[in-house]
Amino acid sequence: MDIIYRYDPFAPIEMPRIPDVATAMNRLIEGNDRFVEIVTQMQERTLGRHSGEPLVIPVSPVTLGLPLFEGVMPTQAPFAAIVGCADARVPTEAIFDESFNSLFVLRIAGNVLGSEGIGSLHYALANLGESLRTVLILGHAKCGAVTAAVDAYLSPEAYVDIASTHALRTIVDGIQIAVRGAARALTLHGGGLIESSPDYRSLLVAVSVYVNAAVSALELQREFNGFIENPPAVNFSVYDFETLRVQCLPSDDDDDSNKIPRYLPAPDSADELFQYASDVAKAFLSLDDDALDRNCRLTVKM
Ligand SMILES: [Zn+2]
Repeated sequence: MDIIYRYDPFAPIEMPRIPDVATAMNRLIEGNDRFVEIVTQMQERTLGRHSGEPLVIPVSPVTLGLPLFEGVMPTQAPFAAIVGCADARVPTEAIFDESFNSLFVLRIAGNVLGSEGIGSLHYALANLGESLRTVLILGHAKCGAVTAAVDAYLSPEAYVDIASTHALRTIVDGIQIAVRGAARALTLHGGGLIESSPDYRSLLVAVSVYVNAAVSALELQREFNGFIENPPAVNFSVYDFETLRVQCLPSDDDDDSNKIPRYLPAPDSADELFQYASDVAKAFLSLDDDALDRNCRLTVKM
């Protein structure tokens, strides 16, 4: 299978206009769909199921966010700010099929925002407002930071070993709200005995990942509301290794995943946050065994 990046200097260049948050989010989702399509075609080719037709991707320096001529300095003009995890398996630009100068990216373990992260976003909003249209919190499945927070929750006696430095504890502590909300939601839908299930740790990690993205979005939206006139809407989503999609609920199969919201606005109250945690827990507990295996029972690496 050939993947051909083709640059035609005489082809007309169309620069998509990003006038509002909905258009910005659509561009991110369409980019994620292209990423899924490219990887899926390669995987199918590996299994001998693809026709082998070359995949031609038109590119130009301008659409890649690079200067057309040597020595020209581009003006910084991202259309989205994204707060993701530092996990090496979740490169933000690649997931959204974006390149230079389109995303303002912060990557912090567990997408936990401290004052430096929030300060960076304040800078972006104050200085890049001409182009910036949306802010997205992006969690990811099987997150090591969330796993550490779950382990600290399940084994408080091992807390100091799990989060061995003050800096690590800051991250683990920041995720506890999500873990507690996820645990309460799982008990609500799975009953008190769910805690003794052999899969409980993996299930709690899986649910906490989604809830943690929602918690970060809620906190950031409140931060913006308190300090910024006309604050931008903060959305959240989770990258899933199985589907390669960004999504807001676990998916059963391809058909179902098309009905799943790809992103959601930040919850604006504790009740709304818990309602979301409850929806996520219910969705995980409704998966059939195969889907649950794919979503939860894979080894979680620290
Ligand atoms: Zn992570």
